[in-house]
Amino acid sequence: MENKKDCIFCKIAQGEIKAEKIYEHDNFFAIPDANPIVAGHSLIISKKHFENTLDLPASLGMELLDAIKRTSEILIKKYNATGFNVVNNNFESAGQIVKHVHFHIIPRKKNDGLKLFG
Ligand code: AMP
Ligand code: ZN
Repeated sequence: MENKKDCIFCKIAQGEIKAEKIYEHDNFFAIPDANPIVAGHSLIISKKHFENTLDLPASLGMELLDAIKRTSEILIKKYNATGFNVVNNNFESAGQIVKHVHFHIIPRKKNDGLKLFG
């Protein structure tokens, strides 16, 4: 599926809604999360509409990993982070709100107080 009319991330991918792209390649781009849980919290988003990771073609795997690595490196430098989490929510029961596949990149520092799991 190329895009979905009422999908917020499709609109950003197509430039209908402006967003600061901190990374971009053929099939993915990264933008700051609108409601960051820590400074620098960003999202890697596919340019085409796929609902979740199960819909994402495995052939995009290498590019996705590269996007995760490049975006994380950019954020680590920019926010003086010493670590990062990659979080990907799939389906409502796992907390997915935007039904267009995306990966949270969360820059971390020691004792930053953020509790992600438990
Ligand atoms: P989830 O679907 O639970 O993985 O979370 C969706 C994430 O997208 C949330 O962290 C939102 O803050 C973020 N978000 C929603 N709309 C926008 C937007 N227009 N620009 C940037 N981030 C957004
Ligand atoms: Zn979409």
